[in-house]
Amino acid sequence: MSHDDLSEIEARVLALESLLVEKGLVTSEEVDQVVYRFEHDIGPLLGARVVARAWTDPKFKQRLLADGSAAIAELGIAIPDLHLEVVENLAGLHNLVVCTLCSCYPWFVLGLPPVWYKSAPYRSRAVLEPRAVLREFGVELPESTEVKVWDSSADLRYLVLPARPPGTEGWTEEELVAIVDRDSMIGTALPQVPDKVVP
Ligand code: FE
Repeated sequence: MSHDDLSEIEARVLALESLLVEKGLVTSEEVDQVVYRFEHDIGPLLGARVVARAWTDPKFKQRLLADGSAAIAELGIAIPDLHLEVVENLAGLHNLVVCTLCSCYPWFVLGLPPVWYKSAPYRSRAVLEPRAVLREFGVELPESTEVKVWDSSADLRYLVLPARPPGTEGWTEEELVAIVDRDSMIGTALPQVPDKVVP
């Protein structure tokens, strides 16, 4: 890839990495390891485990909504020194997460943020016209449903607890984990139940 193909952000990241390597503060291998860890070891799977546990264990859900940081630590998820607030989708209430200022994200449960989360249009439009943004993501909500937008900050991150979809009664925690995708924990999607396999 030539430098002409890089976006402005990619070029800035590359410049920063080169500077840190040149100053002997990090090596390229260390940067690669951190990126790998975010993409493979953390990723949205941890968040999906949190959601599936909340769906199957009402007491855990209570603790999760009361103190998100403490509850995810119970699952052995390492949490940095900041607060996680979990906001629950209910009948008549939908939650959407944004960082209007930059790109604060609950990376310790969702991994790396998607590119659109960091984009200027999402950051401004999520607040100004959340329903239009949701519609573009394919989420159609009844007019009567209230949409709450949560603005993340350096020390406060949000995770959406989606509603458990109908048709998943009796599913195991592992089966539930599989239908909780990243966007449903940001609020730009709803968990989908795959069509029943006809034997
Ligand atoms: Fe931010």
